[in-house]
Amino acid sequence: MWKWILGAISAAVVALGAIGGVMVYRTAQLTAAPAAAEAAGAAAPIAIDADAAARRLSQAIQIQTVSRTEGVVEDPETFAALHLLLAREYPRAHAALQHEIVLDHSLLFTWSGSDPALAPILLLAHQDVVPVEAGTEGDWEQPPFSGAIANGYVWGRGAVDDKGSLIAIFEGMEALLAQGFQPRRTVLLAFGHDEETLGGGASAIAALLQQRSVRPWFVLDEGMAVVEDFPLTGGPVALIGIAEKGYMSVRVTARADGGHSSMPQADTAAERLSRAILALRANPFPGGLDDGPTGQMLQVLAPQMPYAARLAIANRWAFNGVLIRQTEATPSGNALLRTTIAPTMIDGGAKENVLPQEMHAIVNLRLHPRDTVDSALAHLRAAVADIPNVTIEPEGTPSNPSPVSATDSDSYRLIEAAARTFAPEGAPVAPMLVLGATDSRHFAGVAENVYRFAPMRAPQSELGRIHGTGERMSVENLTRMAQFYAELVRTGAQ
Ligand SMILES: [Zn+2]
Repeated sequence: MWKWILGAISAAVVALGAIGGVMVYRTAQLTAAPAAAEAAGAAAPIAIDADAAARRLSQAIQIQTVSRTEGVVEDPETFAALHLLLAREYPRAHAALQHEIVLDHSLLFTWSGSDPALAPILLLAHQDVVPVEAGTEGDWEQPPFSGAIANGYVWGRGAVDDKGSLIAIFEGMEALLAQGFQPRRTVLLAFGHDEETLGGGASAIAALLQQRSVRPWFVLDEGMAVVEDFPLTGGPVALIGIAEKGYMSVRVTARADGGHSSMPQADTAAERLSRAILALRANPFPGGLDDGPTGQMLQVLAPQMPYAARLAIANRWAFNGVLIRQTEATPSGNALLRTTIAPTMIDGGAKENVLPQEMHAIVNLRLHPRDTVDSALAHLRAAVADIPNVTIEPEGTPSNPSPVSATDSDSYRLIEAAARTFAPEGAPVAPMLVLGATDSRHFAGVAENVYRFAPMRAPQSELGRIHGTGERMSVENLTRMAQFYAELVRTGAQ
């Protein structure tokens, strides 16, 4: 990946002559952060009964809390069953923590700290799962709702997203309670029931906290993990999500005179719609590294990257253009730099020999933190302005990108230290922009800093199983996550 950049930079450095010396100096300054000194004095991770944790995750997977349609809870009984399971398996947490049901199925637990003046920690997970695509059940190594425990994994829909986090949080808190831990800082646990559709449960919990003037120290949700073969470094990286992209779909409508297809006019609705889609794709949103999440990520990862990349990152004043071109060359890199435009649906026309008066396309956008729903809409409309009779309107419920949380806050440092403890030795911990949407987006107005991380270690190939076929959580990862949540609360709330 970095071969091309090496060529370009070598040429540039030669051309720039004396400035090259400055570049090399700046590059040398960019070294890896020293290994966390606190690791030496850190307590051993809390003991977790891995087999029992795996069995409980298995049971949770077997309860099919599927979210399919916005605003519809298909099977309320499943949420009641999941709540019963949690109450039975985590008796200490249910005895020691105050427990509320919000919007019928979402859960809010409050572990009151001894010092009410301290801002609480808020941990999030969600109870619902996406459906299994009809016809793909047979492609799973283990049936999708079996919760089979085999080959070191717990198998099934939701094993990772997000019952793994739900169970790991309870395991961690239950283990702390068993040790007699009493937090000084209040710990809140919130579990939405419709993250995979609307996030109404999380939104209601956020509103409830706001109404009670509860202002958490930080919020931690799912969304990022430890990628073992991160493309930029070729090794493991613990990624902490510090922002997530917004979401918007638009309906593109092209109109024309209808009529008989034996005598077509010069410009049909189909042609206008096609030109509109091509115009949208030909006018990408401005992208860049600036000092947003992706620029910050490169800065942290630079010491682990090849020399050419390090040189470019250390001298962004000279190589910004090269870095951007290199990053945007892959779809995932491009998505980190800008708002993306994806045409996903087209329809129109009722009969093969009739010219349609109207044709439609749906285009899905993921909004980079530098854009908003309004600015994105203006950008799209400008791109099709000279195509006659084409309109663009928002479809569904768009959401703005989240604010970008700080990487120099005490809470980031706390999560970073815990992440370092549970990541492979020497793996860097870097901030990242989350491309998907999580429940944590509803808490932007509740807490200043919202982060997304769990120390699940996996290669990139494993991530395709989430929302896909063969979703599974290794028992090792489940245990590690439970220990991480316990460690975070032990160090953050003591
Ligand atoms: Zn999720």
